[in-house]
Amino acid sequence: MDAIDILRKLKDKGVRFTPQRQAILEFLLATESHPTAEEIYQHVKAKFPGVSLGTIYNTLNMLKEHGHILELSYGDMSSRFDGNPDNHYHIVCSKCGRVVDFHRPLLEVDQEAEEISGFRIIGHRMEFYGLCPECRQGEMN
Ligand SMILES: [Zn+2]
Ligand SMILES: [Zn+2]
Repeated sequence: MDAIDILRKLKDKGVRFTPQRQAILEFLLATESHPTAEEIYQHVKAKFPGVSLGTIYNTLNMLKEHGHILELSYGDMSSRFDGNPDNHYHIVCSKCGRVVDFHRPLLEVDQEAEEISGFRIIGHRMEFYGLCPECRQGEMN
């Protein structure tokens, strides 16, 4: 589904379709960089100078609530947003903060977690930490 299909579907559910929202979603679907809200704002502002950071946050929350994007939260650090809403794993650079996808079959551990904890498990998240190739390069010099 492209941005227009997703926004048309949302429009049927009563969500307003705006060119700013289209630009936000198009950017998220086209990038693999897992941008922060601030980075999305800078990108969209180049095309729509009147857009506010509030509009960016509202749109991201709305898209997340409807299951079209993922928010990767990192405690005090800025959340990053992912245009691929299907669960997948990530590798995070502890030095520069870069986030890349790590595609592999999901571990089938939810059932086990449910049995051990008594929680009703709705999903799991897995992240690897380390130094990205560029930061490794810097370490060697
Ligand atoms: Zn790095
Ligand atoms: Zn991702």
